[in-house]
Amino acid sequence: MCFGAIGAPKLAGVALTQKGEETRAGECRQCRTFCDKLIEPRGCLEQRCKYLYSYSDQLSGVRYMGCMRKVFGAEIDIEMFEAAERNGGFGGIKMTGDPLPQCQFRVEPAYEGAGPEFACVNPRFFDCTDDGDDGLRVFDLRDALT
Ligand code: SF4
Ligand code: SF4
Repeated sequence: MCFGAIGAPKLAGVALTQKGEETRAGECRQCRTFCDKLIEPRGCLEQRCKYLYSYSDQLSGVRYMGCMRKVFGAEIDIEMFEAAERNGGFGGIKMTGDPLPQCQFRVEPAYEGAGPEFACVNPRFFDCTDDGDDGLRVFDLRDALT
């Protein structure tokens, strides 16, 4: 369902989180677009990040990988990941912790719409946490919209 339905009440650029409601790491709810950051595990592997761990489950034999820093909280089945990579790509996994400069992510909007209630008021959300030389810039939704 899109929040941009005709007749929906308009908000004038106010934050959409309620009092006492926290926005979690990797989330922005400051306009009705509702953006989430998704970590690209392929990037963790390609750069051989020292915080990427893997292990084999003793009982099932399934191999998993995860992030020691809990930038993404879920553990990924490596076999399923590799199969997905061979068939178009695994894609992203929801960011649940504060990223490090090397963490590669993209921003995924949940809703699309026109009007001020969908206008981005938090452009820094698209940037990484480090603006130094090593900083990575994600795919920028603003570029796609212009
Ligand atoms: S710290 Fe970042 S790059 Fe390293 S494993 Fe975790 S999410 Fe991937
Ligand atoms: S478009 Fe901008 S303000 Fe709106 S949710 Fe996404 S990052 Fe936040």
